[in-house]
Amino acid sequence: MSTVDRQLEELQDEIVSEIPADISVTDVKYEGPELVVYTRDPKQFAQDGDLVRRLASKLRKRITVRPDPAVLSSPKRARDRVLDVIPEEAGVTNLDFHEDTGEVVIEAEKPGMVIGRHGSTLREITQEAGWTPEVVRTPPIESSTVSNVRSFLKQERDERRDILETVGRQIHREEMQDDEYVRVTTLGCCREVGRASFVLSTPETRILVDCGDKPGSEDEVPYLQVQEALAGGANTIDAVILTHAHLDHSAFIPLLFKYGYDGPIYCTEPTRDLMGLLTLDYLDVAAKEGRAPPYDSEMVREAIKHCIPLEYGDVTDIAPDVKLTFHNAGHILGSAVSHFHIGDGLYNVAFSGDIHYDDTRLFNGAVNDFPRVETLVMESTYGGRNDYQTDQEDSERKLKRVINETYEDGGKVLIPAFAVGRSQEMMLVLEEAMREGEIPEMPIHLDGMIWEATAIHTTYPEYLRDDLRDRIFHSDSNPFLAPQFNHIDGGEEERQAVADDDQCIILSTSGMVSGGPIMSWLEHIAPDPDSTLTFVGYQAQGTLGRRIQSGRDKIPMPDSRGGGRTEHLQLNMGVETVDGFSGHADRQGLEDFVRTMNPRPEKVLCVHGDESSTQDLSSALYHEFNMRTFAPKNLETFRFV
Ligand SMILES: [Zn+2]
Repeated sequence: MSTVDRQLEELQDEIVSEIPADISVTDVKYEGPELVVYTRDPKQFAQDGDLVRRLASKLRKRITVRPDPAVLSSPKRARDRVLDVIPEEAGVTNLDFHEDTGEVVIEAEKPGMVIGRHGSTLREITQEAGWTPEVVRTPPIESSTVSNVRSFLKQERDERRDILETVGRQIHREEMQDDEYVRVTTLGCCREVGRASFVLSTPETRILVDCGDKPGSEDEVPYLQVQEALAGGANTIDAVILTHAHLDHSAFIPLLFKYGYDGPIYCTEPTRDLMGLLTLDYLDVAAKEGRAPPYDSEMVREAIKHCIPLEYGDVTDIAPDVKLTFHNAGHILGSAVSHFHIGDGLYNVAFSGDIHYDDTRLFNGAVNDFPRVETLVMESTYGGRNDYQTDQEDSERKLKRVINETYEDGGKVLIPAFAVGRSQEMMLVLEEAMREGEIPEMPIHLDGMIWEATAIHTTYPEYLRDDLRDRIFHSDSNPFLAPQFNHIDGGEEERQAVADDDQCIILSTSGMVSGGPIMSWLEHIAPDPDSTLTFVGYQAQGTLGRRIQSGRDKIPMPDSRGGGRTEHLQLNMGVETVDGFSGHADRQGLEDFVRTMNPRPEKVLCVHGDESSTQDLSSALYHEFNMRTFAPKNLETFRFV
């Protein structure tokens, strides 16, 4: 008998001794980080609202109770009982019964009403129907990403359960090593922005944190991290952690599966969905540009199948000697500061991922409060000594001025924006400004993946800033559903009609004018001197956006009639730049994050920034807080214990 099986037997005995004698326990299993308890008496189990919580704290495990398949009522009978319990206003849109596990997945417009106070309605569902409920939100704006991911996971449910069982047994295996050390190896994003990737290792465990690409540099060994990470074979990694879905952190996660990795990816639920959206788009763009992508969409599906979503604040066993906790990072939807507790009080490391320290319109500021932290691995994108950003209010004032002046002239405002994050922030600024009468009412057209990314945001309001979440919960004031927003889905004809029409605002990808529908908008609008091209995001060196920003007025356009000639488009429209809408903390924010961090770490590794930014920040933190700081290079290893 394996040690895990013996452990499960002991757990089963312990559970039986803790619960009332009339409640049976027929089986106990690990599924990923959770302990699943099967019982013939699910209704009695649900009666005592506190029983599962008491068991969880006694056993120090996350516990799920499921009915033994032998006692399940038929889905047909259960359906009516489930619907009887849930209040009408919850807006149930779908019920899915899984007879192999006794779970019913309830899709509802207001999941809170299905859960009830402290889970009271959920328990009532089990008491009445004998099934274990699981609740998901019906997206208020239909999202093909969310529905594709959900239906894919449903279709792969059996295989997924096998994966979770294997992962669960791995997590709870017996520790084999007597040695003690904690190391971090930097595989990318050191003294550079892009290809974020680290290995956190102990004698027992190797964990990969992020695995991204470096945009715009095909010759800079893009697979470096993957080769290094898998140097000892695909199964030398126990777990992959994805801090957020941006491609410079996520693009090569699917590639791991092509090379034989078969383990879990821990991330938040929105990060999983956004990773699906962004990596599939990454493959699409590569194909359109005639590049051979390093993996295909099948590998994206593998990655999604292996995702184990965690919520902020959940302390989760991910290896025999490592616990992981995610906290809000304030950067993009689902972004997480990742805290690792290693050994039994041995050491603690936090990876900031990308962070925004202050509150923004979309997100609460990054969390920097931990039970313990000795080392912080921190982003330094704006760590340079002059990297202070304009105050958000000033930025918004300038944006409104540009819009008002353009409107007076009878022109259109064209804003290139990234689909995820910046666009939703712009939508909130514009919606409020129109509601308050600070800019005239006019249509706001959304093109490219912006609409889809917005739909994903509204599916996960619990990840948004408190007051925004409240507005979305009460759907009559969901700002993303304001009537002036128009989703461009009719392609070129619709764009032409918009171009021929009156004043409006257009938000379109790509954010750095490096392809996508923005090119087509430029063809329509660039010749008009009354219109304004308005940059609200960072324009990287070498992009067309940067060249236009620095004064170029001829835009090279691929010849639409074929023939391989490049035509030049005359840019007569005005060009404005409004800084200050960044998803990253600026130099002040980074310093504040460390200053107010509780507890303050002993060591900080400054990564994810240009050479000078990481060095500036490292030396500033050293002088200001008298801590040990580093600006590592790629492929360095730090030993902490
Ligand atoms: Zn990012």
